[in-house]
Formats: sequence, structure tokens, C-alpha cells
Amino acid sequence: MNILVINCGSSSLKYQLIDMNDEIVLAKGLAERIGIEGSRVKHEAKGKDKLVVEEPMTSHKEAINIVLKSLVDKTYGAISSLEEIDAIGHRVVHGGEKFASSVVIDKDVIDAMKECIDLAPLHNPPNIIGIEACKELLPDVPMVAVFDTAFHQSMPEKAYIYPLPYELYKELGIRRYGFHGTSHRYVSQKVAELTNDDIKNLKIITCHLGNGASVAAIENGKSVDTSMGLTPLEGLVMGTRCGDIDPAIVSFLMNKKKMSIAEVNNIMNKKSGVLGISGVSSDFRDIEEAVKDGDCRAKLALDKFYYVVKKYIGSYAAAMGGVDVIVFTAGLGENSISAREEICKGLEFLGIEIDSDKNNTRGKDAVISKDNSKVKVFVIPTNEELMIARDTKELVK
Ligand code: ADP
Repeated sequence: MNILVINCGSSSLKYQLIDMNDEIVLAKGLAERIGIEGSRVKHEAKGKDKLVVEEPMTSHKEAINIVLKSLVDKTYGAISSLEEIDAIGHRVVHGGEKFASSVVIDKDVIDAMKECIDLAPLHNPPNIIGIEACKELLPDVPMVAVFDTAFHQSMPEKAYIYPLPYELYKELGIRRYGFHGTSHRYVSQKVAELTNDDIKNLKIITCHLGNGASVAAIENGKSVDTSMGLTPLEGLVMGTRCGDIDPAIVSFLMNKKKMSIAEVNNIMNKKSGVLGISGVSSDFRDIEEAVKDGDCRAKLALDKFYYVVKKYIGSYAAAMGGVDVIVFTAGLGENSISAREEICKGLEFLGIEIDSDKNNTRGKDAVISKDNSKVKVFVIPTNEELMIARDTKELVK
């Protein structure tokens, strides 16, 4: 069974074609700059040369059309006809309270997704556009939606409610939802597989540390808390997002600097985080380099980031009454030896002990804790596309 996984952003579209018999990626690629000048599709099929198609693409439908043509291309393709695509799995950012798991897409599902647009105005519309474009181009292929929020729908009420008037939750759906759910679910399941434990017996803290970053507390295989909230702005310090701050800062800035809501939003989402503190970059590699060159603000940015992740680990251990496993994943979590070391430093009192030789690893499944560490610490590369493909296979078979 071949499954096409699609992740539509506002001006980009990532895809993978996965053969689910042995979970092999047959082809993958990226359409960029959709709707703006210089649009192109970068495509690569297993064992074939890379293909770059530089063509104007004014819509996601045009981009998907080029992706489909590339997939069946005689020289660069992975399959000989579109009939070899058995199902399509779509990443959808916000499922609100309507979706606690992945679903087969029909008209009702699309309508329900549209109702969630208010909660994710930047992300859900391109996700829906991608779904509608695929429906037009491949009307007979079943499609599944996999939501970033779904895994966290198991959070108990005390974890998801904000201490605001309860009516605002009821009227507007203002509550904590959490994101990166597909990633937290994938790495927590993988940990149980690697340790040969029943996931029901594990208390796991998963740290998804990329440009966007979140931590989740997972008990009995279910998310019981996570650091992102109503939107992906809450929680950790991120590449450009501020994470947790005193909410009064918003009105303070509006008053003092005569800023509009849009300007404050822009600061909190695009100009804050490690970029804001360091003034160097949102990319952790650049900041690590700047620290080596003696840049004090870059060091402060990293120190703040590590400190906040450490505090979340401590609080989630408290929330679950213990922790058995910690997982590091995503760009920084998978690759930064120093980030993992600094975050775990000082957590020995919880039974978390990193082995510096084992921690000298990047981008592959590895145990990085000492043999006698009470808490096992893992690096596990995330694979959201595979998780989406697995859900799709399960639901359409
Ligand atoms: P997203 O999907 O949220 O854009 P990723 O999971 O791709 O993010 O992570 C991107 C982040 O990971 C970047 O900030 C980058 O600096 C960091 N990263 C990637 N590789 C390394 C590395 N070798 N060392 C340190 N940081 C890294």
C-alpha cells in the first residue's frame, strides 16, 4: 500500500510517498514559494537523481499537480501511474475539541475543520486548501486528516483549562490544546518499542526541540500535559517565539509604545525567543557559534532556553509523580549534544544522569543516559510523516 503524506503550509507543501509494506520512503520533496515569484518543486525519488521544477505556481492545486507529475515521471518518478497511490494522509494543525484522533476526510470533517479556523488562522486554511486540491485532482483516493492537537485531547481538565472566566472557554473555546502531537506520539511509542516496555507502565517526558518547541508529559501512553496552549506561542522559549511571559506585557507594550495588536503579535511570534534575546539568529547553530566567539547575549539566550526546558521537565515529573524516560527529538533535540547536556545538568536529584560518551551522538535512535541512571534518556529522531501514513493506512484499510 502506497500512501502520499501531505503537509501544506501557507506558501509551501512538503510531501512523502511511503510504501507501507515495509515503511520505505519512495519519494519526497518540497514545493516552495507557492503563489509568489520563484516557485519551485524539489523532488527526489529513492535511487534516482534529484529533480527541481521551476515553474510559476499560483495555487496549491498547481503545486500538487506538479508533485503528482514528478511522482510518475519516467526518469525521476517513483511509481508508474497515479493509481498506485492508495490513500493520502494530510497533516492538519488544529482539530479543536472536535478531533481526538485521526479521521477519514468527508464533507462533515472539512466543515468541522473550517470551524477550527479561528483557532489557527494561519495554519488551518492552507491545510484545507491542500485537502480540497487533492480531492479535485484525485477524487477517488481516500484521504485521512491527522491533527497536531489530537494526541493532547487526553489532557485532564485541570491541565487544559485557563484560569480565565469559564464562560470564555465555553463561548470561544479558549483552553489549552497543545501541538506537535504527532511527534510526541511517535517518539513515545518508539521508546516503548526500544525499551520493550508496555507504554501503559511508563511515565515519559518528550522534548520536541526544533524551531518551534514543546514538552509533553505522557502517562499510560496518553498525553496528560504539554507546554503549548491555545496556540503554539505558549510554553518554551523558541527560535522566534517568546513562550510563557507575563500576559500583562501585551497591554504594557500597547500603552507605552503605542503598538497595535498586530505589532505586538509580530514581536511575540517573530522577533522573540532566542532570536530576540541574542539578536544573532533564530537558528540554534548560529547561536552556539556566537557563544564560542564570546557573545554574551547569545549565551544568555541559550541559558534561558535550557533553563525553561529544565523547569518544564521538573514540573512534568511532579505532575506525573515521577518519570521513567526522557526523550529528545526534532532539530535541536536530535542534534545538539550541548543542549541535551545543559538541560539535564542538575537534574541528577530526579535520577537523570547523562553519559557524556553516549551523548556524543546525532540524528539516530540512542540511549544517552548512564547504565545506572534511574531515568533512561533517549534521542529519537521524530517521524511525523510515518505516523501520518500509519494512521492513514489503519483508517482506510
Ligand atoms: P522546525 O520543524 O520547527 O522548523 P526543526 O525540527 O527542523 O524545526 O529544527 C530546527 C532547529 O534545529 C534549528 O533552530 C536548528 O538550529 C536546530 N538544529 C539542527 N541541527 C542542529 C545541530 N547540529 N546543532 C544544533 N542545532 C541544530
